Amino acid sequence: MRSFEDSYRHKGMRAQLVKLLKEKGITDERVLTAISNIPRHYFMDSAFDKIAYEDRAFPIAADQTISQPYTVAYQSQLLDIKPYEKVLEIGTGSGYQAIVLGELQAMVYTIERQKKLFDEHRKFVLRGKYPNIKYFYGDGFEGLPTYGPFDKVIITAAAPFIPPKLIQQMKVGARMVIPVGEGNVQRMLRLTKLADGTTREEVFENFSFVPMLEGKNN
Ligand code: SAH
Repeated sequence: MRSFEDSYRHKGMRAQLVKLLKEKGITDERVLTAISNIPRHYFMDSAFDKIAYEDRAFPIAADQTISQPYTVAYQSQLLDIKPYEKVLEIGTGSGYQAIVLGELQAMVYTIERQKKLFDEHRKFVLRGKYPNIKYFYGDGFEGLPTYGPFDKVIITAAAPFIPPKLIQQMKVGARMVIPVGEGNVQRMLRLTKLADGTTREEVFENFSFVPMLEGKNN
């Protein structure tokens, strides 16, 4: 069962989490504000109320995970979202990262390959609050050619390689934040698309994500 009550106790735990994220090096105030505004416990069973505000990943349906708050904050900070930017997210999962982007006033297009997670999201209580987020069931390797080009692209699963179709769907000057690598550890990369269609690459910390898989799963 999930509970949709945001008490002072929850708000207190959230303030502690934001403090921890600052200590770990997250400096973008807009990202920190977004995290302090979103009741992360709404995304999990009410039995895990407290765990919702610990800085750790957590299992959700279909053997997937809600990313660790630090990871969500880190990727959001690297994206440097401006209001009204078009952002493509691969791997909706719990929808938490999408809603952080929604709080940052982006126009969010998020894709999930697991039908069960996609369907669960239809009835999610916070969904109506963010008309700026659109949800799609599909294969993230294909992107959303009819909705692009995008200003920002975020991949929230471990990519075995940089998906070429997603580079095509970026505007010149657009950024992609993507954890690349197979196995247990991925390297966070930030790519900027140049006028000649190639990309400039910056390399950041290591993270651990569930794999980005090809095709849809129903
Ligand atoms: N952003 C999520 C993190 C979810 S974990 C959150 O905030 O909770 C990664 C998700 O990526 C999983 O739900 C997985 O099913 C999904 N995924 C993996 N490969 C994918 C693909 N090719 N296309 C779309 N989603 C994919």
